[in-house]
Amino acid sequence: MSVSQLARSIKASPTLRLNETAAKLREKGEPVIHLGGGEPKSKAPLDAVLNCATQLNTGEVRYAPADGLPALKKAILRYTEENYGRLLAPQNVIVSSGAKQSIMSLLYAILEPKDEVVYPAPYWVSYPEMVKLAGGVPVAVTPEDGSFVPAVPDIADKVGSYTKAIILNSPNNPSGVMYPAEFVAEIVEFCEKKSLWLVMDDLYNRLVFDGQKAPNPFHYAKQAPDQSKLVVVQGVSKMYAMTGFRIGWALGNREVVEAMTNIQSHQTSGPVTVSQWAAIGALSGVQTPIESLRLTLENQRNVMVERLETIPGIHVTKPNGTFYCFPDFSAYMKDSQKLAELLLDRVRVVTVPGKEFGMDGHLRLSYCGTIKEIMDGVERIKWALDPNAPNELFLGDRKLVRDWA
Ligand code: PMP
Repeated sequence: MSVSQLARSIKASPTLRLNETAAKLREKGEPVIHLGGGEPKSKAPLDAVLNCATQLNTGEVRYAPADGLPALKKAILRYTEENYGRLLAPQNVIVSSGAKQSIMSLLYAILEPKDEVVYPAPYWVSYPEMVKLAGGVPVAVTPEDGSFVPAVPDIADKVGSYTKAIILNSPNNPSGVMYPAEFVAEIVEFCEKKSLWLVMDDLYNRLVFDGQKAPNPFHYAKQAPDQSKLVVVQGVSKMYAMTGFRIGWALGNREVVEAMTNIQSHQTSGPVTVSQWAAIGALSGVQTPIESLRLTLENQRNVMVERLETIPGIHVTKPNGTFYCFPDFSAYMKDSQKLAELLLDRVRVVTVPGKEFGMDGHLRLSYCGTIKEIMDGVERIKWALDPNAPNELFLGDRKLVRDWA
């Protein structure tokens, strides 16, 4: 049996693969700490659950339109007006099965074969694979100064006649860094001038710390919504901790939304109706769950950063948002895949290798678990790496003895 060349070029999602590895080890009774996860642990908002349950009780669960239920689009438009100050029309919104599908449908809608899509590193693991799936060529840009904040000239240097789009994700998965407003403003202007698509993956824009606020890309857009190539991607997964519902959306010009709708209509049809009811509940209900999650994550970020800073030699950039931190472990090991394997093997801590995000030498650590998991997880990492740490460590009732230098 042979699969296609395209299929062979696509890697499995490392984060989903790690979830499976962690689950298997746990099943065997191993004391695994999962710092590789990509979802908040809070429950879905009550308004989401209640709205979903009420509708579900009718027993009438039918196909939804390919671009989403009108009632959900209405709730999204209200959310967009309140949070982005942008009044859009229903034809500017497409609901998808997660933000992931919104990005995928968009890439299918805009890319010609071999068109290039530029995005800064570190980047979300799925961008390169999604661009390849849509027939395009992924082009990552690594900031020259070794930071996680890209500079406009670095990006402009990689833009050529084949470039069709730029993707920005801020606050960023995996670094947690939020790009400065001036940078976002300049890129919006640059894309308008060059007639490039700009995909703003804004999934984490409500999960921002230290009293900061994520820059609003619409604020800098000069073109009218239906002339604009700015597409903002959002969803319920992170801000409402509703990852399993699989609802995301994109806001763009009518032409591209119509094209994406046609694509989705053949791919999946409309997103799951039951999940859309839940999303309507979340968007229309009390909004306190977002703030409470944000505060919890800020506290967990503080604990993780504080603990990581006790490990000699690693370099930690304090995240401005999300629930990820992306420390530089290259002083210990440059190959992040090997380092992640070593940590899983020796101390049963799951991390994601930086290589997957386009930056080797780093590990992505999530602080969306409990404080205990964060503290114990970092303690175990420190013990595994620091040659001056005590010779023994207890994982539950299991004693580990250092048998390496
Ligand atoms: N963009 C980024 C940057 C993400 O981290 C994720 C989820 N890990 C997504 C998009 C996809 O989110 P969803 O669950 O809505 O498909």
